Amino acid sequence: MDAESRVISPVRRDEDTELDISLRPRLLSEFIGRDKIKESLSVYIEAAQKRGEPLDHVLLYGPPGLGKTTLAYIIANELNAPIRATSGPAIERPGDLAAILTNIEPCSVLFVDEIHRLSRPVEEILYPAMEEFQIDLVIGKGPAARSIKLDLPRFTLIGATTRAGLVTSPLRGRFGIVYNFEFYDVDSLKTIVTRSARILQIDITEDGAYEVARRSRGTPRVANRVLRRVRDYAQVRGNGIIDKEMAVQGLAMLEIDEQGLDEGDRRLLRTIIEKFDGGPVGIETIAAAIGEERDTIEDAHEPYLIQMGFLARTPRGRVATRRAYEHLGLSANGPQAGLF
Ligand code: ADP
Repeated sequence: MDAESRVISPVRRDEDTELDISLRPRLLSEFIGRDKIKESLSVYIEAAQKRGEPLDHVLLYGPPGLGKTTLAYIIANELNAPIRATSGPAIERPGDLAAILTNIEPCSVLFVDEIHRLSRPVEEILYPAMEEFQIDLVIGKGPAARSIKLDLPRFTLIGATTRAGLVTSPLRGRFGIVYNFEFYDVDSLKTIVTRSARILQIDITEDGAYEVARRSRGTPRVANRVLRRVRDYAQVRGNGIIDKEMAVQGLAMLEIDEQGLDEGDRRLLRTIIEKFDGGPVGIETIAAAIGEERDTIEDAHEPYLIQMGFLARTPRGRVATRRAYEHLGLSANGPQAGLF
């Protein structure tokens, strides 16, 4: 994949960190869309505050770039609670987690991104910590080893994951509040684009914002990134204002098509069709054929391609749908042809 087409990948990159932070809403009322989540959360937050207790543990799952981290910070902010952020792979040993938990402030929020990547022994420390605010520590080795229970301050764990399916059921069962993040509709995304343009002082018209929103694969992180690239285009090739025409041309330069697919998405579909007769083909085989990580395909490409009906996941592997053939202007004459 070339540098240009990577613009559309929803996975976080270094350059995003600053952008993510500057554009990140801080209050529930600034968080666009997701009305049901906001409504129930505001009730739970108020109730917890009235009782003087920490909020129940929260699990957020869904594809990257949809606002899970943003919401975790908003929850802490609305609770007036300190937040400590870490991630599954960063907590290597049970002792690392014990150190974090014993140092946490009462009623604070612990945010664990990629919670599905916690190791089993670390996860086991988490169970009593979440349920009883206690941890079992083993001191010493061999026959002299003994286990002691330590009381922890009461806290709220917010876990985020792109793979709900990889969160073990004992861990999942310990979250009282679970929210599934789906792709945003075009209207919400347009509001996000307009808000970001205002913060970044970018001139954009209604239909310019609509065009960017429509082709940003339902993902705020992608929309914010595309907005900046299209602004560059409008400044160099136009008068700096992003109207529909500028947006269309800027998106064409980024090789983002009418359906919001980038060159990487199209290459994935084309590979399944041309090299594997449209599938079914295993994910590892596809990853090897296009030289991409399996995780990137599963996290960044597949959810949108499946949602848009270009790709299907079957027990025997991935299949390119009729829509994919049509979109790429290819004809179906492999073994799959009969299926359509
Ligand atoms: P995730 O943790 O799901 O990968 P982030 O929370 O980092 O995603 O969101 C990426 C960026 O998208 C944030 O910087 C934020 O500016 C923007 N964003 C996400 N959701 C919303 C929303 N509902 N309203 C406004 N901006 C949003």
